[in-house]
Amino acid sequence: TSLEEWTRSDEYHNSFLIPKDDILDAVVKNNHEQGLPDIAVTVAQGKFLNLLVKTTGAKRVLEIGTLGGYSTIWIGRGVPSDGSVTTLELNPQHAKVATDNIKLAGLADKISVVVGPAVESLAKLDAKEPFDFVFIDADKPSNLIYFTEAKRLVRPGGVIIVDNVVRYGRVADPEYSDNNVEGVRRLLHALKDDQDVEATTIGTVSEKGYDGFIYAIRK
Ligand code: SAM
Repeated sequence: TSLEEWTRSDEYHNSFLIPKDDILDAVVKNNHEQGLPDIAVTVAQGKFLNLLVKTTGAKRVLEIGTLGGYSTIWIGRGVPSDGSVTTLELNPQHAKVATDNIKLAGLADKISVVVGPAVESLAKLDAKEPFDFVFIDADKPSNLIYFTEAKRLVRPGGVIIVDNVVRYGRVADPEYSDNNVEGVRRLLHALKDDQDVEATTIGTVSEKGYDGFIYAIRK
């Protein structure tokens, strides 16, 4: 099976389940025109995040890794009107594009984009105002630090998702190594003895390839 078939399959399913969306189309176009890399979640994954946020009734969401705000907008649409999304982004240009896109989507009052290294932004967040849902999708070598901070900041019963943890099966390939794969492996090794969460990995194939995410709940 190839990327072409996975793309055809995504497009087929999306054509029944996900209506055409002028705002998200404009967001994708902006991201492309501003030279952002094509590494946002897929349409179907964006909607899945939206549905998860609604299913869990999450009111306060934290995202690590904004890019142009594509996933952020799907998440922001899922939180109630008195809810909020805090999204952390290192690159000021990505953050600027995201801020424009979030305005375009009419979500500026719900979503705050925090610019800077996520480790520093996270350190400033207070666990006295916990989050219900955390989506980790930034630099993969820092996965374990982000996960540890997410555990500190999420309420008991809250959800932590870590994206891109399968990486074409390379994470499980003993012959393969790079910084991203090692970042995922460090997280997995830490999770083996972690009594604070229950977690599972779900592999996915999509128009963005063969990958997967970790879904964890805070005990
Ligand atoms: N969640 C986005 C989406 O699906 O639309 C995609 C995020 S993209 C995969 C990863 C983002 O993390 C990039 O915009 C990158 O600039 C950002 N990033 C990389 N290192 C970071 C760091 N140390 N702190 C915060 N953000 C970082």
